[in-house]
Amino acid sequence: MFKALVTENAGGTIITSVAEMDEARLPPGTVTVAVEYSTVNYKDGLVCTGAGGLVKQYPHVPGIDFAGTVIKSADPKYQVGDKVILTGWRVGEVRWGGLGQKAVVDGDWLVPLPAHLTTRQAMAIGTAGLTAMLAVMTLEAQDLTPKSGEVLVTGAAGGVGSVATAILAKRGYQVIASTGRADAHDYLKSLGAATVIDRSAFSEPAKRPLEGERWAACVDSVGGNTLARVLAQSKYGGSVAAVGLAGGSKLETTVIPFLLRGVKLLGIDSVMCPLPRRVEAWGRMQSDLPLDRLEAMTVTVRLDEVPRLAAEILKGQVRGRVVVDVNRSL
Ligand code: NDP
Repeated sequence: MFKALVTENAGGTIITSVAEMDEARLPPGTVTVAVEYSTVNYKDGLVCTGAGGLVKQYPHVPGIDFAGTVIKSADPKYQVGDKVILTGWRVGEVRWGGLGQKAVVDGDWLVPLPAHLTTRQAMAIGTAGLTAMLAVMTLEAQDLTPKSGEVLVTGAAGGVGSVATAILAKRGYQVIASTGRADAHDYLKSLGAATVIDRSAFSEPAKRPLEGERWAACVDSVGGNTLARVLAQSKYGGSVAAVGLAGGSKLETTVIPFLLRGVKLLGIDSVMCPLPRRVEAWGRMQSDLPLDRLEAMTVTVRLDEVPRLAAEILKGQVRGRVVVDVNRSL
């Protein structure tokens, strides 16, 4: 038996709580991991509350990412005792995930823990941080450099936004952080933001297809009107990494920024991202993500605190990153 967070459908009401699970109920897979840490991402909020209809079969163990130690392996790439990271591949959505003390997955989905990170630090980064790094790598593949100009991060006080702010600042960019939280300005400056602006600057629909040119690039967690306004304000040749939909999935824009300014809208997906690119992104954390700033944006909680945090993250009330110590006594 092991402890896990379990989401159940009680006659249409989704309830998530800690329960004892039988190991025999774990899904099939080649590698069994003793989970040490998992996290709370926006998608975990959706899964734990039933919003978005991501889970098709109950009971379900949520947790879209985890880090821990291999305790059983039929995959020659992994031996008992290896430290590993799992993010994505729809684990925690369509199959049982990492918010429990044990998880079984396909060995091809795992990334070996980089030598410079602990399993706790790996989950302080988690899916949100990996996605932020993938966004920065994608923008830089478009020749973005610190000389290109200001880089905007939207939803900056959230998980993806906080890590993106810290990475971009470490790489020498002038980061403009957009947030709806008046009390997050000092926090974002401590992560390296040069300037913090209120997100209301982007919340109204665009009135014109082009606005004044400002952003060399953007990491956008918000979508909706925010993304439309950022496209209209992008500098000639600018790039926008579309990461999330915290403010809405609908995008009402025109093709004018693409046609007249050569603006590039770049989609970022961490879930099905090929393994070599994941390994590259995790490797870059050593040089590009200061661990003291990672620590400053992270809190550690117990499994039984996750249902509350799941509801809060959907309301944009969780700051930075939340690590879940699945073995911390309840
Ligand atoms: P968080 O909740 O931690 O961050 C989202 C942030 O967006 C909030 O902190 C808030 O920032 C801002 N926000 C929330 N609601 C609104 C709103 N109505 N209008 C404007 N801004 C809002 O979530 P994550 O960082 O975990 O994820 C961010 C987004 O990225 C989510 O949509 C998630 O699904 C997506 N995502 C996508 C991935 C991919 O592979 N493409 C992987 C990981 C996440 P502030 O308080 O600063 O205003």
